[in-house]
Amino acid sequence: MELADRVAIVTGSGRGIGREIALRLAEEGATVVVNDIGRESAEGVAAEIKAMGRQSLVVLADVSSSADVGRMVETVKNTYGKIDILVNNAGIARDQLVVRMTEEDWDKVLSVDLKSVFLCTSAVLRHMLKQRSGRIVSIASIVGIMGNPGQANYASAKAGIIGFTRTIAREVGSRGITANAIAPGFIDTEMTQRLDEKHRQELIARIPLCSLGTARDVAEAVAFLVSDRARYITGQVLAVDGGMV
Ligand code: NAP
Repeated sequence: MELADRVAIVTGSGRGIGREIALRLAEEGATVVVNDIGRESAEGVAAEIKAMGRQSLVVLADVSSSADVGRMVETVKNTYGKIDILVNNAGIARDQLVVRMTEEDWDKVLSVDLKSVFLCTSAVLRHMLKQRSGRIVSIASIVGIMGNPGQANYASAKAGIIGFTRTIAREVGSRGITANAIAPGFIDTEMTQRLDEKHRQELIARIPLCSLGTARDVAEAVAFLVSDRARYITGQVLAVDGGMV
């Protein structure tokens, strides 16, 4: 168990990729704070973690709100006395071609997908800097590297995460803190399950490994980057995309 005694916050971990990351870190022994905006799903994941014999705490918070994030980080610090790992996973999409995209949809996606990464990272860094250790992993997307029609807001936010991660890596490396990003490709989630079979097959034809990824594939990459095995890796963007990019 590589993460025994570590305290991890995983944002947006009530379902999807975040849930799988939370469970994977708990498998390695971590105490996992399950953050989400939905109580029922978050409590379900926390119950699964406790059933594995690990500790878990649900903190409902909107990661795009500085007040909520401040409260979340203080709650974790007061409960466990430290924060070793932050996984910035929460994210949303509001797809539309640029000519039809509303200012509201632009602001909402930038706020939940990018501003949240700044808010959560700066709040945990205050504690990590004193500890002189920490691991930050943010979930970007290959869309932030290659662009995607209909996703100008989402692609901009995800590209922003990459620039932010590389900057943080330079700012806090001397204090023993690493910051990396993961760029998932097309992952088999509720979103991709909604695609019709023709679109799904077209997508798969563009992937060298010939299949969509799983949430577990992303969680495995996170588990590595937050472990001691990744001690000397920072400022990187790891694509988990079956070779697509
Ligand atoms: P998902 O299934 O929609 O899950 C997102 C989670 O974040 C949900 O539990 C959601 O809560 C929560 N959330 C939404 N807004 C929040 C907020 N303001 N504060 C706190 N939590 C919030 O998404 P996913 O597919 O697992 O994606 C997870 C991450 O991977 C995202 O950053 C996404 O952009 C990225 N990603 C996904 C794919 C893919 O193919 N799925 C590919 C590349 C990157 P509710 O359930 O209550 O809404």
